[in-house]
Amino acid sequence: MRTEKILELYTDYVMPTYVQMPIALSRGKGARVWDAEGNEYLDFFPGWAVSGLGHCHPRVTKAVRKQVRKIIHISNNYLNESQGRLARLIIKNSFDGKVFFSNSGAEANEGAIKLARKYGNPTKRYEIITMEKSFHGRTMACISATGQEKVKVGFEPLLEGFKTVPFNDLSAVKEAISDKTVAILLEPIQGEGGINVADREYLAGLRQLCDQKDLLLIFDEVQTAMGRTGKLFCFQNFDIKPDIMTLAKSLGSGVPVGAIVASSKVCDVLGPGSHATTFGGSPLVCSAAIATFEAIESGRLLNHVNKISKFLFIQLENLRKKYPSIITTIKGLGVMIGVELAVEGDEIVSECRQEGLLINCTQKNILRIMPPIIVKKGEVKKAIKVLDDILAKAHTI
Ligand SMILES: *Cc1c(COP(=O)(O)O)cnc(C)c1O
Repeated sequence: MRTEKILELYTDYVMPTYVQMPIALSRGKGARVWDAEGNEYLDFFPGWAVSGLGHCHPRVTKAVRKQVRKIIHISNNYLNESQGRLARLIIKNSFDGKVFFSNSGAEANEGAIKLARKYGNPTKRYEIITMEKSFHGRTMACISATGQEKVKVGFEPLLEGFKTVPFNDLSAVKEAISDKTVAILLEPIQGEGGINVADREYLAGLRQLCDQKDLLLIFDEVQTAMGRTGKLFCFQNFDIKPDIMTLAKSLGSGVPVGAIVASSKVCDVLGPGSHATTFGGSPLVCSAAIATFEAIESGRLLNHVNKISKFLFIQLENLRKKYPSIITTIKGLGVMIGVELAVEGDEIVSECRQEGLLINCTQKNILRIMPPIIVKKGEVKKAIKVLDDILAKAHTI
């Protein structure tokens, strides 16, 4: 089907909730995708950070193909070997505790919020401190937690019990704590908010506060996990551990799987009958997530990320020096990079697309450069060349 026909189907039958680009992607391999007309693109924002291993990683497609022939779904009232094995993989690679599997990032955060409330219930504490410019998903609890007005408008009344403070400001958190506070929820690097990296001292301070006041430190790692920042999980860059971590996006390399990872202190707070989800942690999605872990390990991909990240940062810094009136700052960690512009970025994103490079712009002026962690040096060079040519044109206008 041609793109215009697909667009007609959307106009007639699909709710218009997304800002959409007029291309239909029909095939992908590694860092490349092809549209319905066969045009090739370099995908430097694959699946909104879902396809961290690139598209159709052979290890993942093989695992899914094998599983889909055996059994696709079973109810969580029966034991599922892959769910048990995946939970062990997550725990052995993060911190002692247990895992609950969800289907999305919002659902994982929703569950983490429930867990925090249950933990605070005996002491009548339920308030959760969240950050300005955060993003935690689109369910009612998650938009209430999110520190951005635009996701809330029109959906009031919101869920009570959230206090929002500026990001990277420890004293603001201290001031916001009351005898009702039970948890602090944040992304160690804000994605949607513009690739804002938490300071090391800030996170150490939050950890200390949480220990002193018996608060739960919850990291939303939905966008930052699975090697994206050069460590398997982003918190591992900071020498501290959260009490709860939520995962989704690249955990299953494209199949819908999310997780609440809870430390030993809180992992038994949600007991039998207190929380559930029908599709959560099916054999199909768990097989894909196990394969994702294996691919990262056997491909030595964390090493690769750290190398390619250095190269990317140097190249982007060069562009910044070349076009100082357009690019103001390069920020981020690993291959989670924000290019802050002095101008709005939408035009640059669409010109990149016309030249075969897919990237994203958030907060109007931050280009998000988040290639899959398997991206090759040659592909980075190609992407930088596209950006360079477009910035050169913009520069002369
Ligand atoms: C994408 C995202 C979410 C929401 O995940 P969904 O799977 O879309 O529900 C939550 N938190 C962060 C940090 C995200 O990037």
